[in-house]
Amino acid sequence: MLMPNTESLLHAPVATSSAQDRVTPGRIEVITGPMFSGKSEELIRRLKRAQIARRRVMSFKPDLDVRYHRTAIASHSSQTLEARTVANVEALKAELFPVLDEVEVIGVDEAQFFEPALVGLALELIQMGKRVILAGLDTTFAGEPFAPVPELMAVADEVVKLSAVCMRCGAPAVHTQRLGASQALVVVGAAGLYEARCRACFKPYAEENAEQLELKGIGINH
Ligand SMILES: [Zn+2]
Repeated sequence: MLMPNTESLLHAPVATSSAQDRVTPGRIEVITGPMFSGKSEELIRRLKRAQIARRRVMSFKPDLDVRYHRTAIASHSSQTLEARTVANVEALKAELFPVLDEVEVIGVDEAQFFEPALVGLALELIQMGKRVILAGLDTTFAGEPFAPVPELMAVADEVVKLSAVCMRCGAPAVHTQRLGASQALVVVGAAGLYEARCRACFKPYAEENAEQLELKGIGINH
């Protein structure tokens, strides 16, 4: 008499043979919104809940986010969670893939600082049954979509869009206002350089900058 293979009985609720090899797809969750909207806090909350549920969690953040810790995700409210700092998507894969069998939940903070390849990686990971939770800014200081977060939102199972509080008028804020003179897309780690703003109080960078320069009597040509 043939003994049934208990392994396959446990994992094959469907009768067709092709379904036996199929992995239950994972899930992409995107937490987005402007700065000061609590994105990292929500990411940390979800990852800590996964840990309490005894899920094996691995977290990443881009190398240029040096505001608070080099080895942890930090929220503005000083919640932290251990994370690996990686330079780009390739470096993230190099750390994750050797231990992928042992990881069930993957957290990524400051997703807007990664390249578009992050979208493909997230899709690859859910095909392996992983839960991928990403937090990042949806728009730049100019109010434009901040790739690759819009693409991640499009392919996500769940999108949580948080608002901050406008630092001018107290209304719900959807924008990140950059203060000061830098025109670079990415400026990190300078306290006081950004404010959350509502649509009415938000001024795209060039306008704000022109005002500030005019105040100083410099003026700029457009
Ligand atoms: Zn406002």
